[in-house]
Amino acid sequence: MTAEATPLLQILVREIRADGPIGLDRYMALCLGHPQHGYYATRDPLGRSGDFVTAPEISQMFGELIGAWAAAVLSMMATPGDRPCLVELGPGRGTLMADALRALRAAGADFDLHLVETSPVLRRIQADRLAGIAPTFHDSVASLPDAPLLVIANEFFDALPARQFVRTERGWCERRVGLTAEGDALAFGLDPEPDPRLTAPGPVGAVLTLPSQGLAVMRDLGRRLAAKGGALLAIDYGGDQPGFGDTFQAVAGHRYADPLNQPGEADLTLHVDFGALARAARAEGLAVLGPTTQHDFLLGLGLAARAERLKARATPDQARAIEAAAERLTDPDPRGMGALFKVLCACHPALPPLPALPPPA
Ligand code: SAH
Repeated sequence: MTAEATPLLQILVREIRADGPIGLDRYMALCLGHPQHGYYATRDPLGRSGDFVTAPEISQMFGELIGAWAAAVLSMMATPGDRPCLVELGPGRGTLMADALRALRAAGADFDLHLVETSPVLRRIQADRLAGIAPTFHDSVASLPDAPLLVIANEFFDALPARQFVRTERGWCERRVGLTAEGDALAFGLDPEPDPRLTAPGPVGAVLTLPSQGLAVMRDLGRRLAAKGGALLAIDYGGDQPGFGDTFQAVAGHRYADPLNQPGEADLTLHVDFGALARAARAEGLAVLGPTTQHDFLLGLGLAARAERLKARATPDQARAIEAAAERLTDPDPRGMGALFKVLCACHPALPPLPALPPPA
């Protein structure tokens, strides 16, 4: 073992020695979700002192606008006798929901709150933050109630385990995490045999990402939304073309890190393949709106007017901070949040057009 051996590295090395190289999905599931040593199980990764900053942590306006959007959609979903559930997937510090609840209450919305969260550390923070409303926690979407659902997911799908395949002369071979020749450190490798089910053309060296767990979540929610009504709003970085690039990345302390170094100590993510999620939703009978950009979605929801109202009550310093946050959330530069982050909604086909989203494609 090297000096950097984390407890999780020892577990991984043992598993790989016993069973052979593991898929990227298994590697991500252990690094992020291992109950004792996983990244999310052991820390609050959000914010300035953590590893990354998300939109709700940048400004209260983000959650407030999503709350107003949710209130409008809940009123469209209203079905007598079936109390709807507002569901958040991966609520982080509970900031988005705390801000959204102000807007939902102001609109008089009526719902039960359900949170899907695997991290005990973040569950505690969420429970404190949302103490007044007593949310019900779930380990996965499988235990959500059989009711109309309005589901919000910000930076959730990018953290779900996925598989990757690399194009070789022989075909698409699964990318696996195995051991170096010395047997004490992790190394990427490829299955010797291609996967016969993957037949898409692609240049040698291309990387194909299969968001296996994201698709499973979308199918489960899709069945529920088609049967009972409702909508899923997913906001994440990614595109609607799968592309052939490798977007698997590790971030620790606001910097990119080697995803195989110090497993369990860095956040691992992949760009979300919105095209694949949209196809899975349509296959369950849902309508798909977008993806649109975070820039268009937030401005469509009235970000500019919300910022002006907050600035009217702010000190000059606070007003500058509000302005800077609004610009950061909607930054249209190709690498800015406004362009890189996309918004996709999958909903029951009988819902009328939804605020700030394009009509179904
Ligand atoms: N939505 C929040 C946090 C994003 S970080 C925000 O925007 O600030 C990802 C969140 O998803 C964390 O709360 C993490 O604990 C949770 N998470 C990661 N994998 C999960 C899984 N498989 N099931 C449920 N929650 C998960």
